[in-house]
Amino acid sequence: MIPFKRVLLKLSGESLMGTKKAGIDENRLSEYAAQIKAAAALGVQMGIVIGGGNIFRGLSGASKGYDRVKGDQMGMLATCINGLALCSALQAEGVKARLLTAIRMEPIGEFFSKDKAIECMERGEVVILSGGTGSPYFTTDTGSSLRGIEIEADAMLKGTRVDGIYTADPEKDPTATKFDTITYDEIYTRGLKVMDLTATTMCKENNLPIVVFDMDTPGNLLKVLKGEKIGTYVHN
Ligand code: UDP
Repeated sequence: MIPFKRVLLKLSGESLMGTKKAGIDENRLSEYAAQIKAAAALGVQMGIVIGGGNIFRGLSGASKGYDRVKGDQMGMLATCINGLALCSALQAEGVKARLLTAIRMEPIGEFFSKDKAIECMERGEVVILSGGTGSPYFTTDTGSSLRGIEIEADAMLKGTRVDGIYTADPEKDPTATKFDTITYDEIYTRGLKVMDLTATTMCKENNLPIVVFDMDTPGNLLKVLKGEKIGTYVHN
């Protein structure tokens, strides 16, 4: 039994860098495409939100003198570049994939609507939802919460480079321990930096569970979709 009918998968732009210092690592991209292909073969409907941090982030732009809104727009365009790359890698693997964008930019991608996204997923296409929320001052984590809720996903799968949520940053504190499950409220009270608060609150208020897992280990996406207890499950 597959516990999910439809999921929103969040991939970070930073992970797309792989071993590079910026931009897209082709090996990482094709590893992701292979994992998504295997997941799609299970019959799980998938919407994917991908970040843009490997190319541009509005906040770091602002610290270098860019106007914040224009910087964020650059960041949103960066997510579209990553979305195009992922769409192309999936199609090269024989997966039916389509890019929908939060900001109109046909023919690069079609303008997002809930109905279009669901229609495509029900036809067996993987939809890549680029451009974040379409508005500045948000992140792609918030974009994923929003899209996850809109497309009526059963869960948001947040693929990261760590294998779940820890009591402290495991890369800095060797005594940190991992949670198998945690509530949204505990994330607030412990001040854990899982996602930005806007994204966490949207999931909490709309009852969208999150699975935080290590996407950079091939095979993990399939394990999560099959209900294997890897990563951390966040719930109300
Ligand atoms: N961004 C935005 N609105 C959104 C989503 C993203 O303005 O709804 C911009 C913001 O500048 C952000 C950048 O796009 O820094 C890249 O997204 P994010 O940092 O979330 O990417 P990730 O960290 O996942 O690679």
